[in-house]
Amino acid sequence: MSAFIRPDLQAFAAYSAHAITDVQTQPARVDHLDTNESSYDLPTPLKEKLAWEYQQVIQANRYPDGGHEELRAAIANYASQAIAETKLRVTANQVTVGNGSDELIRSLLIATCVGRSGSILVAEPTFSMYKVLAQTLGVDVVSVGRDAATFEMDLAAADTAIATATTPVRMVFMVSPNSPTGNGLTPAELDWLRNLPTDILVVVDEAYFEFSQASTLAEALNRPNWLITRTFSKAFRLAAHRVGYAIAPSEIIAILEKVRLPYNLPSFSQAAALIALRYAPDILTTVAEVQTERDRLWQALQSLPGLQTWPSAANFLYCRPTTQRLDDLFQQLYARGTQIRQTGGGLRITIGTPAENERTLANLHQALES
Ligand SMILES: *Cc1c(COP(=O)(O)O)cnc(C)c1O
Repeated sequence: MSAFIRPDLQAFAAYSAHAITDVQTQPARVDHLDTNESSYDLPTPLKEKLAWEYQQVIQANRYPDGGHEELRAAIANYASQAIAETKLRVTANQVTVGNGSDELIRSLLIATCVGRSGSILVAEPTFSMYKVLAQTLGVDVVSVGRDAATFEMDLAAADTAIATATTPVRMVFMVSPNSPTGNGLTPAELDWLRNLPTDILVVVDEAYFEFSQASTLAEALNRPNWLITRTFSKAFRLAAHRVGYAIAPSEIIAILEKVRLPYNLPSFSQAAALIALRYAPDILTTVAEVQTERDRLWQALQSLPGLQTWPSAANFLYCRPTTQRLDDLFQQLYARGTQIRQTGGGLRITIGTPAENERTLANLHQALES
């Protein structure tokens, strides 16, 4: 490899969401239940509104609104609705938007760690992009484990890790509910986060907020070192448009605005997110169905011998085979047309349509019996 490339980058594999290797049988049809997207496309009338925006409003020759003014105000309004009883309101200057929340994670790493000694702390298994993005920026990752039964972060290990890290921990990433394990923040984890020194940024990733309806937003608004990230890629059914956002005190947001690329969010994606917020009740109708289906599938998986399944507050379930090899089960499911994610020593299954979930269940049944 050329000497001009950073040696540490040569060892990495490029990120691939759909890593399927060594499949003997290619299934005729595949249910894509491996990336936690919605199984439902946008309703046709909303797609038509978006097409109209493109034809009548968006000027293809002009750069997008680089300050995302309208979208930030609409996000602030949407986020405020869920904390209405606190009388707190999110303002537009407490919001920044990214090309997916992945861009926000990268901006956060740049703002806290890049160019000086600094590391991040994660509790694994968790969302893999924190580590991947940190590594591509040369930022150290301090990793601690989770309780084997509840997946609560090992708080004692986290304290030790922070006290002994060779590069100071500048940021802690927590996902609530966590991917891939589905558990929300526990009272002990919340207390631990509250007691962190304010020179560590606390990031709570609420990508699955609409499914859990649990949030630390109201608390985060009163803390100088807390930031919430969310996304339009999951409950809002807009994964194709790559829109994520962060909410934090305006001082932190102002820094992130400096760090991001100019015109980071195409006009078409801004228009899509605005329509999604305007018609949020129509789009989020699928959330209740997913919650019901998740609980139904969880009940059904509980009774499958050879499988341990955890409860989930998100749009996916996490399980581990107790007798079969993990990779065998994964491959067998794929061969039967159910593509899920193998991660963290288990399998993460996205909740799909009722028909997809039926096939998931039937395929799991057969795969565990074979
Ligand atoms: C899916 C997901 C996201 C969303 O990422 P985008 O870049 O906004 O699509 C963020 N965090 C977690 C934990 C996720 O599972």
